[in-house]
Order: sequence, then C-alpha cells, then structure tokens
Amino acid sequence: MKRAFLTNLLIAIGLLSVIPDTHAAPPDVGSAATEAAFRDLYKELVETNTTLSSGSCTLAAERMAARLKAAGFADADLHPFAAPDHPKEGGLVAVYLGRDKKLKSILLLAHIDVVEAKREDWTRDPFKLVEENGSFYARGAFDDKAEAAIWVDTLIRYRHENFKPRRTLKLALTCGEETAGAFNGAQWLSQNQKDLIDSEFAINEGAFGELDAQGNRVALQVEAGEKFPQNYRLDVVNRGGHSSRPVKDNAIYRLAGALKKIEGYDFPAQFTDGSRAYFTGMAKIQATRGNSDVATAMNALVKDPNDAQSIALVSSKDPSWNATLRTTCVATMLDGGHATNALPQRARANINCRIFPGVSAETVRQKLEELVADPAVKVTTLETRGPSSPPPPLTPRVLGPVQKLTAQFWPGLPVLPVLQPGATDGEFLNAVGIPTYGIEPVFAGPDLGNIHGLNEYVGVKALLEGRDFLYRLVKIYADGK
Ligand SMILES: [Zn+2]
Repeated sequence: MKRAFLTNLLIAIGLLSVIPDTHAAPPDVGSAATEAAFRDLYKELVETNTTLSSGSCTLAAERMAARLKAAGFADADLHPFAAPDHPKEGGLVAVYLGRDKKLKSILLLAHIDVVEAKREDWTRDPFKLVEENGSFYARGAFDDKAEAAIWVDTLIRYRHENFKPRRTLKLALTCGEETAGAFNGAQWLSQNQKDLIDSEFAINEGAFGELDAQGNRVALQVEAGEKFPQNYRLDVVNRGGHSSRPVKDNAIYRLAGALKKIEGYDFPAQFTDGSRAYFTGMAKIQATRGNSDVATAMNALVKDPNDAQSIALVSSKDPSWNATLRTTCVATMLDGGHATNALPQRARANINCRIFPGVSAETVRQKLEELVADPAVKVTTLETRGPSSPPPPLTPRVLGPVQKLTAQFWPGLPVLPVLQPGATDGEFLNAVGIPTYGIEPVFAGPDLGNIHGLNEYVGVKALLEGRDFLYRLVKIYADGK
C-alpha cells in the first residue's frame, strides 16, 4: 500500500512536473486599501513587544481583538484568555461562523510571542518595524507575526466582503511557543478548551517557500509532521581537590569524553510518508539543477532505507537533509568547575535532541547512555515539552488546494511535503486529534530570515504574496464539503 500511496501522492502533488517558472508574477487579489490596512495591523502587532522578559502577549491579543471588533466581530465570537498566574501570556480565539454548523471548522493558528532580542545587539531597534531595501526588519517580523497578522487581516477582509463560508473558521493567537516552561496557549487550549478550537484540521507555521542562495524559488513546502524536541543533561560529579595536585579522574575530562562519543554517532535513518515524498521531490529538483549524484542518492535511499552510501552522501550535503533523515542530538550548553585553582567537582552539558516521529524520549536517553558507556556520567531526561504525535495524513483535501494555487501563483513550482526538524505548537493539537499542517507560503532563503537570530527580516513582496495566497487558500478550505 505504502509505495502505491507514495506514487499517488507524487502524482497528486504534481512533482512529476515541469521546470518551474521562478519569475512568474502571481495574480493580484488585494486592493491597495486592504494592503495599507494590513501593513498598519502588521506594524501594530510587530511593535507590541511580546517577549517573555518584558512584553505582553495579552496586550497584543487585545489589540488584535479590537481590530476584529471594529470590523464587525461580535463579542460572543471573541474569546480572549489568560491564566491568572500568567497575566501577560494570554491569547485570543476568534470565531467566524460558517453556514453549515454540522461541518467541522478550520483552525488558523499562530503564536504571537517572540524570542528575546537585545537592542544593543541589533542594527535597528528590534521592536520597531523598519522597511528597508524591500525587507521588513524586526523581532517576529517573520516568526511568527507574519502569519499571525495575515490570519487577522484575512478574517477582517472576509468580514468586510461579507463572505459566508460553508464551514466555520477559527483563529487562535497564542503565547508561549518560543519558551519552554512558560504558559503555552496552544497547549492550554488543546487540553482545557478543546471544544473552542476543535476543527477538521489546522494550519500553522512550520513550512515556508524555499529560495536558493541566488533568490530563485525552489519549492513550496507543506509541513506534515515534525520531530520532537527533547533536552537531556549529562552530569558528572567528582570529589575534587587542589589543582596543584591533579589526578586522572577529572569531571571535565570525563564529560568531554562522553561528548566526543555522542558527537561521533549518527542515529539510523528513518522515513515517514512525508519525508519519502520530500526526498523524491527534492531528487527531481536536484536533477533539474545538475546535481545528478544527489538526485540519484535521494532516489536510492527512498527505494532502500538501508542504503548507507546514499544516506551518507545526502546527509553530508545539507544539514536540513540530514535532520530530515534521522533523530539528531547535539551539545548546546556546558558548565563545569567552581574555581580556577580547584579540581572540578561537577561538570554538566545540555544535549538537545530532535527525535524522529514514533521514537520515544526514553529510547533516545538509553542510546545516549549506551554511547557514553561511563557510569560516572549520568544521563537525565529534562522537562518534556509535550506529547509526541504521529504525522498528520497528507490528504488531497489539504494538499490539492495548495497545489492548485501554487500553479496559479508560481507555475511549475513543486509543492514539497516536509518533516519539520524544529518544533511548533502543532504538536499539542496533533496530540488531541486536530491534524495540523505547516503552510506559510512566504519565501525565504537559506538563512530563513534570521529567525531567532539577530536582525530578523522578511521580504515585503514575499510577505504580501503569502498574504494573498493564504487569503485564497482559506476560502477554498472554508467552502470545502
Ligand atoms: Zn515560530
């Protein structure tokens, strides 16, 4: 069944297609007036600081609620929420009622919190939206206020047009996606208010429009499934002593030895239907770009998941391809010692793993312990972010409209399913039975707009194209039978 499924999937997503016309202009679906309204909304959202340290998601959600209300949303359709002990980490659920109450709704999800940013590290003020040389610069300009603003703007446009969809549309703006341990709105809603957000499926961040380093469009990604983030701690303790009389048994050296063993290990390659389709599609793209060795290897590993040579070649070419093939674990933080003139009594390291769907956190912990093979090095599983869940099925219902619009916007451009190596709040919704897909047709280059980093940015044209694409995509889903 699987192989036939893959071929059907490939045919369905038109990967067996032509060379893409990377410069075709997409059809215009928005007036200048609506674009100006969008820019104004986007600016307000971006310039509302929503970092955990000094911002307020609750304020940002209130401002978006005010705009929806001004557009005609009734109070009964606006559901602001905040936990009493996390007053600044609130969010909003908005409901746009459909004609047929028997049909399940479609959920539009976006997180409004952003990663921390220090003014002194940035070229511009990270909390001021700056438009320069065709790009918008600010913290959250891309991740994830681009899609959050597009969702709010889209519902406002529908309201102004008096659009009456078959299905109800729901919008959830949530906080806490970027920080483990903070109040996560998507988790809270899925576990405490599931009825309020329950839907046939949800659309979220998690996949983008892929540009190559020259700025040519490569493919439009659709996320179907994500790996599971999990931190582990390696811990070594030692009785220490005076550094003038060193002994062989040293906490830092033991830890270093353990880290080297983890560094040298690659978890076995694994596949989901989505990642098989990804490599099959990417093989075609690589072939059109003259990278025949990579194309051959990708086709080979799809045929034979144990083809070590092909897997090694593909893994070595691009960290994203390596991350799509397997569980990965990497050292991200280190601390050890307590005084310069004393033998260390303790040394610790954080190992951040991205676990392949279907693999448990404990299985990975045991593997790390086996690799380290040193009873003095304790391997502990740290706080688990949330449940790991199987990838949602990539159905023609979800994929069909994306391809149809892609053919109109960017003729010949492949639509590629991806297994997201990073994590999104989709994991909480998938876990409670709301299949969640990453669809964000905003094109970005290999630096992904420096999300989470310094001087985050998004292309103005890319953002506006993504806005028009999603405005039309949601209409198709909302009117779907
Ligand atoms: Zn994000």
